[in-house]
Amino acid sequence: MTKQSPAKTKIPWHELKRIVGEANILWRDEDLMLYEYDGLSSHAMPDAVVFPSTTKEVSEIVKLAAQHGIPVIARGAGTGLSGGAVVTEGGIVVAFSRMKKILEIDLKNQRARVQPGVVNLDLSLAVASYGYYYVPDPSSQKACTLGGNVAENSGGPHTLAYGVTTNHVLGLEMVLPDGSVIHTGAAYWDRPGYDLTGLIVGSEGTLGIVTEITVRLCRKPEAVKTLLAIYNQCADATRTVAAITARGITPAALEMMDGFTLRAVEEATHAGYPMDSAAVLLIEVEGLREAVEEEAEQIEAVCHENHARQVRSAQNDEERDLLWRGRKNAFGALGRISPSYYVQDGVIPRTRLPEMMDYMEEVAKKYGLLFGNIFHAGDGNLHPLLMYDNRDPEQCRKVTRAASEIIAKCVELGGSITGEHGVGLEKSELMPLLFSEDDIEMMQRIKAVFNPQGTFNPGKLLPTGKMCGELRVQIGVAAGA
Ligand SMILES: Cc1cc2nc3c(=O)[nH]c(=O)nc-3n(C[C@H](O)[C@H](O)[C@H](O)COP(=O)(O)OP(=O)(O)OC[C@H]3O[C@@H](n4cnc5c(N)ncnc54)[C@H](O)[C@@H]3O)c2cc1C
Repeated sequence: MTKQSPAKTKIPWHELKRIVGEANILWRDEDLMLYEYDGLSSHAMPDAVVFPSTTKEVSEIVKLAAQHGIPVIARGAGTGLSGGAVVTEGGIVVAFSRMKKILEIDLKNQRARVQPGVVNLDLSLAVASYGYYYVPDPSSQKACTLGGNVAENSGGPHTLAYGVTTNHVLGLEMVLPDGSVIHTGAAYWDRPGYDLTGLIVGSEGTLGIVTEITVRLCRKPEAVKTLLAIYNQCADATRTVAAITARGITPAALEMMDGFTLRAVEEATHAGYPMDSAAVLLIEVEGLREAVEEEAEQIEAVCHENHARQVRSAQNDEERDLLWRGRKNAFGALGRISPSYYVQDGVIPRTRLPEMMDYMEEVAKKYGLLFGNIFHAGDGNLHPLLMYDNRDPEQCRKVTRAASEIIAKCVELGGSITGEHGVGLEKSELMPLLFSEDDIEMMQRIKAVFNPQGTFNPGKLLPTGKMCGELRVQIGVAAGA
């Protein structure tokens, strides 16, 4: 059983009950253990989980925590892959599963105001019949919340053409560590003053707790075409990615899956991916009907020039949905063939994809690990999935080393340590790979303005100085490795 944190003894339970009611607090170990982890394999037990219903309740919880010096960690759906919602020093987890109202839909101004616990896909479903949708679509969109998306500045397959979360958030309401409530941005573009909304999006719960979000809604395109390009050589698929954008074409989505991954996906979802191929590209173009047809033809030609053995086009919505269901359920499909896997998130310039694929192959071979690759190829955002058995300490060590080498190579090639999963707990000590001491100090100073005691989401995003340049992940911890 996890050791009790010093913060637990400080929690004023009676006052907490007065704020949210007894039914909205978890404090028993058997309940708290469900909130020990997110999508990263590290875990640690919070001291309490509270479920507020209003901004006022959030503000009072935070004020109370500040009086007693207790850490506060916001939590959406816990699908984060960098340990952002995992506690580091105990504390109170503020979970947003009861703040999930869509507060306003204003179609004339193409915007919606929501509480942070709204599930990403639910917003698009709520406006679909009017011909609108919310663009950022993480593959976890059936589960993850808009609050989590704001904190992580999440992306998704369709953010190649339309940008990530920050490009779709107009304004925020946020509770600061002293309990005060601030509003940033507006319901329209380009409000004067500092762009605090831009600063908060991607701040991973370290600057404040978001309690309301105003987002932009977009018109659904008139036409959509989804292509599946099939390859016998992985390198031909990666070369196609750069060749498409070099022609001045920006598809709405440009995703890649290697043969290992697509076979696992096909076995799990029967989406129609060819089992004998080395790689596929899933390419989507959208817009006005005539333009879509023309662009799809150009893309098809580029695929063939780069030795695609076949380019298929989804014939109807059902076929399109099936292809996307396969892609979006890929992580789960790989979970069927290995006891554990470690998903990495790195970025490289898309022109370096062929070289990076060879490098990852070499690393996996060196450590004797199976690995699959599925990624937002158009953005150069890689997601290598390293297979291992978390009951085997040697494999756990190897998988951590392999992941570190892959991320270091991304940086060497001019990329980044994360594309969309965030820094969180996992990569805080890797920040110096990307930023100078002065850069990091400026970030520390900004954090100190919003969160002077460091009680909001401690130990995340910025280096703690406790470890040097290492991934902070407890691979195999469940097995005591
Ligand atoms: C199968 C799978 C596929 C995925 N695909 C993608 C993808 O395509 N693109 C992508 O970007 N990510 C992807 N992710 C990662 C993850 O879904 C996103 O990071 C998502 O935004 C997390 O949302 P959440 O509600 O689960 O947040 P949580 O995991 O609960 O929290 C994430 C971070 O947000 C903070 N936070 C949560 N709510 C608030 C709030 N109200 N105020 C302040 N801080 C808050 C937490 O403290 C934490 O630091 C995937 C994950 C899985 C499991």
